[in-house]
Amino acid sequence: MHFDLVIRGGEVVDPGGGLLGKLDIGIRAGVIAAVDPTLPTQEAGATLDATGRIVTPGLLDLHTHVYWGASYWGIEPDPVAAVTGVTTWIDAGTAGSYSFPGFRRFVAEPSQARVLAFLNVSSIGLTARTYELANLDYCDLVLARRIVDANRDLIVGIKARIDANTTRGVGLEPMRLARKLADRVGLPMMVHIGKLPPPLEDIFTLLRPGDILTHCFTGQDNRILDPDGQLKDFVRRAWDGGVVMDVGHGTGSFSYEVAERMLAAGMPPDVISTDAHQLSIQGPMFDMPTTLSKFLNLGMSLPEVIDRATARPARAVGRPDLATLKPGAPADVAVFDLEEGAYTFHDVFMNARSGTVRLVSRATIRAGKPMAPPPPQPLAPWAELPELQRKK
Ligand SMILES: [Zn+2]
Repeated sequence: MHFDLVIRGGEVVDPGGGLLGKLDIGIRAGVIAAVDPTLPTQEAGATLDATGRIVTPGLLDLHTHVYWGASYWGIEPDPVAAVTGVTTWIDAGTAGSYSFPGFRRFVAEPSQARVLAFLNVSSIGLTARTYELANLDYCDLVLARRIVDANRDLIVGIKARIDANTTRGVGLEPMRLARKLADRVGLPMMVHIGKLPPPLEDIFTLLRPGDILTHCFTGQDNRILDPDGQLKDFVRRAWDGGVVMDVGHGTGSFSYEVAERMLAAGMPPDVISTDAHQLSIQGPMFDMPTTLSKFLNLGMSLPEVIDRATARPARAVGRPDLATLKPGAPADVAVFDLEEGAYTFHDVFMNARSGTVRLVSRATIRAGKPMAPPPPQPLAPWAELPELQRKK
């Protein structure tokens, strides 16, 4: 049996694919060809020794911003993918209708990492830092529908950021328009929350099963917990009904206080994503392995954490064929060390927590090919962290 590459001897963690334990991964023609406790390597084109390491499906990051050079937020996906194990990047609405053709040609098509996207309900997308929904003229649903229909191979949903800044003065109207658009094109909606208004209760009246609430563990004033720390009833009902709760750590959206309350109550998030962008990659978010490590140190198991960065987000965007090591799947694989030591992690308010384990990326394989990190890109001239988060 010939393989182009065999990843040997690693501890496989693919809860979504039902693959756990010491297994070899055989790759042929960019596809997972076999998974077995022992695969023959004599005729393999190459082998990668993963003994003592963790082997997972290439991670799928549900909330990222990878429209470099055409938006306030965008980073380049490949340099980060190569050193973090993230092989599928879901851009969370950086492009709107006017900028989506450029996103396809200059980002999605040339990237080695797989890039999919939520289309912003605002035609200008996230060109600027905020206010994309403050002018309702930019919510052109007829145009957006045409863009979705012409790009259904890339567009997995509709994005709307609903907070005080983005919607300044127009209240819930852009969310009503996003709801209408998502229904018309038959895709889920990803809604970002943060600062009041509009109030969370109003936002939740427009969420449907399968929609994604991102920044679910925000510590801003529009949070999912009551002042006494209990999960709000309407959030519980929507979550039970199938709304997907996604972390989207970012620069402003991960609070240890909220996360600890939720985990103590036995309510982990459905999806762990980074909201990687020009600011957040400077820390305290940094990258996906760091974000996953925070949840490991909050008490979640490695399979629970990996499930929330592979199979669960893949299902949320209707792509269960991705982020799995099952034979026949694209050969997107990540190799990590699970290191033990004394580490310190921070939330966006720079609250510190100590930890004893961390995931460290050792290899990223995309379509059967190891990714080599290109030289790091300089940050955008405007990419300055909030004062509190800057390194002293
Ligand atoms: Zn974002």
